Amino acid sequence: PSPEHQQGEAWYSPDIDRVILSADDITSKTAEIAKRIDADYADVGGLLMVGLFKGAIMFMADLARAVNIPVEMEFMALSSYGQRATSSGVVRVLKDLDTDIRDRHVLVVEDIVDSGLTLSWLLKYLPSRGPKSVQVASMLRKPKALESSLDVKYVGFDVPDEFVVGYGLDYAERYRELPFVGVLKPSVYGG
Ligand code: 5GP
Ligand code: MG
Ligand code: MG
Repeated sequence: PSPEHQQGEAWYSPDIDRVILSADDITSKTAEIAKRIDADYADVGGLLMVGLFKGAIMFMADLARAVNIPVEMEFMALSSYGQRATSSGVVRVLKDLDTDIRDRHVLVVEDIVDSGLTLSWLLKYLPSRGPKSVQVASMLRKPKALESSLDVKYVGFDVPDEFVVGYGLDYAERYRELPFVGVLKPSVYGG
């Protein structure tokens, strides 16, 4: 057996180049963001979190438990099909909201903002449903996001322009369950 697969080694160790955010880093940052949200929404009595499948599920679950105001949870699935090729930000709604968001305070919960195209599309679409407010919380942000005019109110961490996995983020549907965020070795995706 190769040295990477010796007994006691975590299964993912050969695939992860380095951990950039530990589970503890994520937990304390989530608590910080939750405090800000508690303060910002104290007077409105509650919040409707809209998580984007699938990447945001871990952050959404932890953030919802960390805040101290009533929260309802909704999910949307968007396909960003076409956006890389056309830069037109064409987005298809694969799973829409199950509830009316009229007059609600909506917090879109995202895993990572890169180009921001998916999110800018969503931020144009949601207001047509008549919410009272729409803000965004993203656990991670890549450098490219800073070039867009996108307003992400709550950001966990700025990460380098490398492909990261874990804490909801996948490569080919794998690694979402890792409790930390790490950089994937390029060899895993044929590099
Ligand atoms: P954007 O529309 O901001 O360019 O795309 C954001 C989406 O691309 C994220 O929600 C995520 O699904 C995916 N993405 C962007 N960067 C990464 C990354 O480093 N790792 C993974 N696993 N997904 C990423
Ligand atoms: Mg996402
Ligand atoms: Mg993905």
